[in-house]
Amino acid sequence: MDDRTFRNAMGRFATGVTVVTTQVGDEAHGMTANAFMSVSLDPKLVTISIDHNARMYERIKESQQFAVSILTDEQKDVSMHFAGQKEDPSVVEFDYISGIPVIRDALASVVCDVAESFEVGDHTLFIGQVLEIKLTDGNPLAFFGGKYGSYQPV
Ligand code: FAD
Repeated sequence: MDDRTFRNAMGRFATGVTVVTTQVGDEAHGMTANAFMSVSLDPKLVTISIDHNARMYERIKESQQFAVSILTDEQKDVSMHFAGQKEDPSVVEFDYISGIPVIRDALASVVCDVAESFEVGDHTLFIGQVLEIKLTDGNPLAFFGGKYGSYQPV
């Protein structure tokens, strides 16, 4: 099986879009990610999967904290910026929760301490113990087949 077939198959799983953020010293860092899921209710745990080639990987290893901001369908430009698809620093607006940057006006932001991490192939799964949550009303940004879209109830 080639990489393209694997990517095409995985791309058929429709997801939301998040920006993972962390803070090292006085420097905030953000990265678009859709490999995010809720893991446990008691205790409250989530996970993200970070490529070992991403700058974010070293940053989270150092800070041992991260936040996940779930984007609205008005934040496609934010996703593109933090994925390095279309640089536009003017769309970057952080709020801070317990010293961790989160994306302003995101649908939800979840702030975590790293509870555990697992190196799996060329990615690391960081398990986050949820410390704080912020919610805002809006509609989610969706990602399917390599394209951005919006969600509609059926
Ligand atoms: P960089 O490439 O250095 O940063 C990414 C961008 O964010 C750059 O444009 C940078 O200027 C900007 N930026 C970062 N911090 C700041 C700041 N403080 N202020 C202003 N701008 C800033 N990769 C994964 O590993 N896991 C995933 O789950 C994942 N999901 C993805 C989902 C989607 C929909 C897309 C489009 C991409 C996904 N990626 C994922 C790929 C990942 O987003 C890119 O490879 C990204 O460029 C890697 O970021 P980096 O940490 O190497 O940082």
